[in-house]
Amino acid sequence: MLLVLLTACGPLDRSPQRVNIRGTVFGTYYSITYYEDEGTVFHDAVDSLFQDFNRSLSIYDKESLLSRINRNEETKADQYFEMVFTRAQEISRETGGAFDATVLPLVNAWGFGFSERADMTAEKVDSLLQFVGYEKVWLEDGHLVKEDDRVQLDFNAIAKGYAADVVGSWLESKGVITYLVEIGGDLVARGVKPDGSKWRIGLEVPAGEMDAAQEWTYFVEIRDSGLATSGDYRRYYEKDGRRYSHTIDPETGHPVDHQLMSASVFAPDGISADAYATAFMVMGLEGSIEFVEKRNDLEAYLIFAAPDDTETYGYYASTGLELLSREDL
Ligand code: ADP
Ligand code: MG
Repeated sequence: MLLVLLTACGPLDRSPQRVNIRGTVFGTYYSITYYEDEGTVFHDAVDSLFQDFNRSLSIYDKESLLSRINRNEETKADQYFEMVFTRAQEISRETGGAFDATVLPLVNAWGFGFSERADMTAEKVDSLLQFVGYEKVWLEDGHLVKEDDRVQLDFNAIAKGYAADVVGSWLESKGVITYLVEIGGDLVARGVKPDGSKWRIGLEVPAGEMDAAQEWTYFVEIRDSGLATSGDYRRYYEKDGRRYSHTIDPETGHPVDHQLMSASVFAPDGISADAYATAFMVMGLEGSIEFVEKRNDLEAYLIFAAPDDTETYGYYASTGLELLSREDL
């Protein structure tokens, strides 16, 4: 027995090596775990992928392609832009506009973007809504066409999930088939580990304070799935005792305000999970349940506040989602 074990761990062992890479991107942390024959560490390659990505899609980089498109200095899409825009538009149509990448002027005006919060009167909101709407912008022969040149795009709601997909595809091009790419809590996982087990992910419970420690009650086991969470309880600001969410309802032009506290969505890839998670925050609890139960390709874990009581909460797991707890470990 001992001999067998020793050989299994010895230098002739051909089983893939586990590699973990960590760093920061998009103002948050990333963690990438994968199995590769030689244990090659792709740290520099991953960081340069993120750099390319930011040069294309960051709204914080004033010289990014997206920033130039938003200032109408450029119309030609690159490969990242084309992919993310096309998927964003599809999901906008499917969700009846709950997800909408043209909300940027509202995001900024409410103080969640790169500008100070404006004085948000009903007139101000109405004037901004005139150039918000995903049907006001489209691609034609690889160029972005705007119905109104004040239209601006923001892919922040899907950047993390999409970037996880981009890193995953890149790893696959290097022969990696088992990986978990996580960026700020949004992730994509593929394959099973060499011992045949799936990836285990803890589902975070709501934190009262923005910087409270992460805690989980349930976990899930996944393979070949994206998972993203949108929520109110870590990203918000308070004014006059009210919490303002950073998710905007594109129909009303106001931050969403209802009992749904967070939506975690499982979808075939990271970009879709990320977009639906934001859309669900707009749709609210009932709308999200109705939506997810009609879809075979989506599962969701929703946390909601008990009415008039922010201290207690409930959760809803969609029919196909298997929640595991500590006893299952
Ligand atoms: P998080 O960044 O916490 O994961 P989201 O993925 O939901 O949260 O992204 C929130 C960001 O998405 C906001 O800061 C804003 O830039 C953008 N956003 C807000 N409302 C919408 C919406 N209805 N559709 C698309 N993007 C949105
Ligand atoms: Mg998101």
